[in-house]
Amino acid sequence: MSNIQDKVVIITGASSGIGEATAKLLAKKGNKIVLGARREERLKEIMKDIDTEGELAAYQVTDVTKHDDVEDLAKLALDKFGRIDVWINNAGLMPHSTFDKLKVKEWERMVDVNIKGVLYGIAAALPSMRERKSGHFINLSSVAGHQTHPGGGVYSGTKYAVRAISEALRQEEAVAKSNVRVTIISPGAVATELPNTITDEDLKQGINQLYEAVAISPERIAETIAFAIDTPSDTTMNEILLRPTVQEV
Ligand code: NDP
Repeated sequence: MSNIQDKVVIITGASSGIGEATAKLLAKKGNKIVLGARREERLKEIMKDIDTEGELAAYQVTDVTKHDDVEDLAKLALDKFGRIDVWINNAGLMPHSTFDKLKVKEWERMVDVNIKGVLYGIAAALPSMRERKSGHFINLSSVAGHQTHPGGGVYSGTKYAVRAISEALRQEEAVAKSNVRVTIISPGAVATELPNTITDEDLKQGINQLYEAVAISPERIAETIAFAIDTPSDTTMNEILLRPTVQEV
């Protein structure tokens, strides 16, 4: 496997955390990056860091809960760089709460971003990948996509769903012999803005303490994603589950 990559990579949720770290690392490795998220100022700052000339990267303000926005992001990649090699469904939020708090709006938001956002990403990228008989989806699930705990029911539900969707897509593309690869990335605690979405005061402090005690840097996940991309095309990392060494569950 080489250190040089030359792929067109689209990243949703590229304005912070894992998406930002991945955009920066993959740009450094020679890939062309298309960034999508809602916070334009953040995207502009990241663009400055990875591509001062605007030739190797592009961004578009994207809300992954809007199908048209996600289609437009794919169109930007196709218009500017001519293809989509890798689509990283990374945008997500984690407003943990126990069910008795009835935070129905937050449940809906998690379903919209964490599940429907991934489906819109698949819809936007799969046709051109099928046509070229080449492509790679990288979908962010979580350790929470393997196990759950009080307060994490809806978030876990969305991350279990990401794994189910990804596995069925993988099977379909294998049958179709489309050469479209699917990789699930399932991290444990990573030091990002993710816990900031928690509004349940009974849970917030404990989760922040856990993150402060064990979380690893988002660069670790970026390196893992780069590794999955770099695997020779006849082989796919179907899922990579990774945790901080000191994280128990
Ligand atoms: P961050 O909060 O740092 O990043 C989340 C990203 O998602 C931001 O760029 C945000 O951008 C974007 N986002 C949120 N809502 C939308 C939306 N409607 N449309 C487009 N983009 C959106 O967290 P992480 O980097 O940690 O999270 C990235 C992924 O990793 C998530 O799917 C998360 O579930 C997963 N993950 C994270 C773990 C962790 O411990 N940090 C562990 C396991 C999985 P903006 O607000 O600008 O739109």
